[in-house]
Amino acid sequence: MVELNDYAGLVGPEVIGQLYRLAERLGPRRFVHINSTRSGGGVAEILSRAVPLLQQLGLDTSWEVIIGDQDFFEVTKAFHNALQGQKVNLSPEQLDHYREINRENAKRFTWEADFLLVHDPQPACLIEEMRPQAKHWIWRCHIDVSRPHLKVWRFLREVVSQYDASVFSMSQFSQNLPHPQYLIRPSIDPLSQKNRELTPKEIQEVLDRLGVERDKPIILQVSRFDSFKDPVGVIQAFRLVRRHTPCKLVLAGGEATDDPEGPQTLAEVMEAANGEPDIQILLLPPDAHHEINALQRAATIILQKSTREGFGLTVTEAMWKGKPVIGGAVGGIVLQLQDYNTGFLVHSPEGCAFRIRYLLHRPEMARHMGQLAREFVRQHFLITRNIRDYLTLMSLLDNPGSRVIEI
Ligand code: UDP
Repeated sequence: MVELNDYAGLVGPEVIGQLYRLAERLGPRRFVHINSTRSGGGVAEILSRAVPLLQQLGLDTSWEVIIGDQDFFEVTKAFHNALQGQKVNLSPEQLDHYREINRENAKRFTWEADFLLVHDPQPACLIEEMRPQAKHWIWRCHIDVSRPHLKVWRFLREVVSQYDASVFSMSQFSQNLPHPQYLIRPSIDPLSQKNRELTPKEIQEVLDRLGVERDKPIILQVSRFDSFKDPVGVIQAFRLVRRHTPCKLVLAGGEATDDPEGPQTLAEVMEAANGEPDIQILLLPPDAHHEINALQRAATIILQKSTREGFGLTVTEAMWKGKPVIGGAVGGIVLQLQDYNTGFLVHSPEGCAFRIRYLLHRPEMARHMGQLAREFVRQHFLITRNIRDYLTLMSLLDNPGSRVIEI
């Protein structure tokens, strides 16, 4: 098992000491997280690592997952799409079903909590049934809500307004809400299966098993098959590059149980790839962390050409592996990739193609960019910082109205 002290070599022992001091000051509190899937996507990725570390700090922390049917997840995926700016139409019956599934889940949750962190819209409505069961209700939004579709946001706003606080990943996402809003950046765990160091032999073993040859530079994008990740735009960019410069494209992704649109997007990607041998589409199971780690380490350039992005942990993961990353200039990607410095930001398939070629022809620049990227992640986006932020948030909520709070 990974121990908190194992992080000291990466972040410094004083950071670990500070976490223990913050946790001690809070005392033995019950901290519950709720989301809608155990695997697939960034929220599950963070929770699977943060919950055991919070437990090590002495906080009674648990992670609950709501259960829903296909109709429910279609509604909540529509919420997701609408919050990211797509126009969607939801009927009153669909909204009733969303509430009903939340009511059913609330019956299963009989515990009480000091702090309840509810992730994203899927379980947001639990507050209507369970308000007395938690002292502090916090809504954590991981979605790019920079330009939400207003009709849907108005509905969710009614729900979210009942919370004591909300947390967004960046200031551009904050909303008009009647409670304090906190900005907390997501993070990766450098010691997880997904991010730990691998030997060249371990990397090669995965590539052999997945049938990925290293005969040409590998351009990689790892993502759920979601249209906001723009996999078709990635294929367009790749085709533009390949006219002049040899390389291959690997699109690696899997499904998340709370995302019913994956198969349709995957079908569009397959059509766009059109059987081209230099485009490999890898469908991976949700626990393929070791495989993704190896693919990221084997890649020459990593893309995250999203058109909306809450944060983009795949960007952080790639940067941590010292890779040059090209990302869409949207949402949380902008917090991570500083153009020409820790990565490249692009606005179109043409721009993406231009940057891929630029880096393929300048391996020294690519290497330097990767080094800067890794250091940037070390300073800002590791899990220890995220845990410190959660502990600080709890201290703040615990002292409402105090003019001086010692952190
Ligand atoms: N991921 C994975 N398998 C996949 C696709 C993605 O394990 O097939 C992981 C990826 O490595 C990252 C997370 O899921 O840790 C995706 O988080 P991100 O913030 O990039 O996007 P989200 O899916 O939450 O929109």
